[in-house]
Amino acid sequence: MSLSRSTGARQAEDSAPRAIRTAVLLAVGSELTTGETRDTNSGDLARILSQAGVTVAWTAALPDVLATVVATLRRALEDADLVVTTGGLGPTPDDLTRESIAAVCGEETSVDPDLERWLHRLFERRGWPFHETNIKQAWLIPSSQAIPNERGTAPGWWVERPDGRLIVALPGPPREMTAMWQQEVQPRLRDRGLGQERVTRTYRLTGIGESAVAAALGEPLLRKTNPVVATYARADAVDVRISAVAEDGRTPGDLVEEAEAIVLAAVGRYVWGRDEDTWPVAVRRELEALGWSAAIVELGTGGTAAQLFGDAPWLRSARLLTASAAQALVELAEAERRESGAEVGLAVRAADANEDTIVEMAAVGPFGQVEAGRATFQGGAEGRRRAGISAAAFLFRLAGEATKAKG
Ligand code: ATP
Ligand code: MG
Repeated sequence: MSLSRSTGARQAEDSAPRAIRTAVLLAVGSELTTGETRDTNSGDLARILSQAGVTVAWTAALPDVLATVVATLRRALEDADLVVTTGGLGPTPDDLTRESIAAVCGEETSVDPDLERWLHRLFERRGWPFHETNIKQAWLIPSSQAIPNERGTAPGWWVERPDGRLIVALPGPPREMTAMWQQEVQPRLRDRGLGQERVTRTYRLTGIGESAVAAALGEPLLRKTNPVVATYARADAVDVRISAVAEDGRTPGDLVEEAEAIVLAAVGRYVWGRDEDTWPVAVRRELEALGWSAAIVELGTGGTAAQLFGDAPWLRSARLLTASAAQALVELAEAERRESGAEVGLAVRAADANEDTIVEMAAVGPFGQVEAGRATFQGGAEGRRRAGISAAAFLFRLAGEATKAKG
């Protein structure tokens, strides 16, 4: 597909290139506001942009209603350097994104001859009849450039506003949208100066709830906008995420480090991992440091501990017994340890209790015998999954204590 660059390029030269620091994402289509389709595009783009250091001011899903899309576009252009729309670029009259952008820019749409040729050839190649409704997909306005779409019939639009703000319109189907974003949009945005360098560090905690973490960190820290310190309750951890951009001559790394010291002083003893760490990674690190292997017996968990650890090299054996097995957990742990020749034997039992799952554990190893228990506040499959995570956290704790004892 050829790009008709002339007008867009001229405008870009006239206006100072504006760095992209803030963005608004608009998902257009009544199938989103009726709930027939879920808007995954905005979340996907928000993650990419946030990682690039762009602040996503807000996102919205809009119906195929011209007045709504026009009004929302106007507001978005007041709030952000970059507005990305997805959807509404199809050939049918209810696809209104082009009309909406034209209205906001106060410009008329017209058929671009290059795009028209490209579109006709595309239909010929595919052996589809060309209906006149499709001609919309060859439209441009004076300030738009076409963004090639190699996976569909709807080119996107790249629209420069006189004040240097940018509208990027992409089609709705995620596979088209994503490919165009990666191949066409992202490189051009980078050239313009995308975002700011942002340094992020995550600490992963266990054995403490999110509200207790928040209380320990204190409101002043959690209310700061740079560095941002935020807590997230995830299935496998409470995460504390610290991120910063440069400010007042201080690097983002310095700002993160400063906040990090406060976070670690407050909740450091609950930390089991950093950044992308997962339980298997953290447990493996601890056990390998000690040269320990382990053997696991599970009761009533459905094997979630073994599933979690997969084919970990330190896992000597994993046995699943029915929940009604009569022996004490300590005995089961010891028997499994002896049979497999591992340093540590661990037995874990999960039992449904109302909506919760009660997890009991016992371990036998160089540290002697240790027992632990907890309620997961989740029943069923999720409760069993958490029982597996509890077993990981237990192993991690025992190994950590042993490492500390060794000095
Ligand atoms: P097309 O030329 O394919 O019609 P389009 O730009 O008009 O492209 P839409 O008609 O809005 O796109 O959407 C086409 C399909 O893409 C939808 O039926 C839906 O399956 C998917 N889709 C649209 N928007 C989103 C979104 N925000 N998140 C996830 N999927 C979406
Ligand atoms: Mg459509």
